[in-house]
Amino acid sequence: PSITRGVTTEVPKVSWEDIGGLKDLKKKLQQAVEWPIKHSAAFARMGISPIRGVLLHGPPGCSKTTLAKAAANAAQASFFSLSGAELYSMYVGEGEALLRNTFQRARLAAPSIIFFDEADVVAAKRGGTSSNSTTVGERLLSTLLTEMDGLEQSKGILVLAATNRPHAIDAALMRPGRFDLVLYVPPPDLEARYEILGVHTRKMKISNDVDLRRIAEDSELFTGAELEGLCREAGIVALRENISATVVCNHHFQTVKESLKPALTRAEVE
Ligand code: ATP
Repeated sequence: PSITRGVTTEVPKVSWEDIGGLKDLKKKLQQAVEWPIKHSAAFARMGISPIRGVLLHGPPGCSKTTLAKAAANAAQASFFSLSGAELYSMYVGEGEALLRNTFQRARLAAPSIIFFDEADVVAAKRGGTSSNSTTVGERLLSTLLTEMDGLEQSKGILVLAATNRPHAIDAALMRPGRFDLVLYVPPPDLEARYEILGVHTRKMKISNDVDLRRIAEDSELFTGAELEGLCREAGIVALRENISATVVCNHHFQTVKESLKPALTRAEVE
């Protein structure tokens, strides 16, 4: 049925160890996501109401989605994933119905995490234009606000939203009780790049001449997604050279590295 179009439900298999760097951020997410679910009695005892929404913002390819999945996995929560762009492109009324339906399913499957990618497309600042007709975005935003306010009664549901454009998000979503926690997910620094390369070569046999630290040093401005691509491509280059190859060598990494240009610019990182 069309009502389920645009939502993916799965129990994510990603864990915190699959994410390189971001130590403090992982800890904050653990506290915001795992604790209220795992220790709900303690929260109730102390009279603390758990956070209902977390906004993750930062450049593309730096693990916002992966963090949300790891959080859901760690908390053993059902994971519902929605895309702002997809909701926006649906027929009149269909996007709102899908939003409501997702919250409904999340309530039934609680504890649940609803991951909302490209949130700015739906939660963009309202109006200011002369036209007084409600736009698709405004209707979706108002549905989202209603659903988030309704979370008060339902336990064990958390909305994690991701955006590359935090300034475009409507202020109404930042009111207390909605997105109470806003976390910046930065591009990886040297140590994080080293760890990310470690994660994505874990299942790979790499030759002794590969110096991952050196590659990390040489890959400033690379995002996690680009580093993952670098490792995968190096493996493919090795196979292209010799289909019976068993190890990936330094020159394979270097060949790929030379052909890659990071999408981020220094200005975006600083
Ligand atoms: P977008 O804004 O484009 O949706 P995103 O910030 O949500 O991007 P992800 O989709 O989580 O980024 O990451 C893209 C890919 O890059 C994933 O497959 C992930 O494995 C890899 N990746 C990104 N950052 C890291 C990291 N810190 N450690 C390990 N892998 C990473």
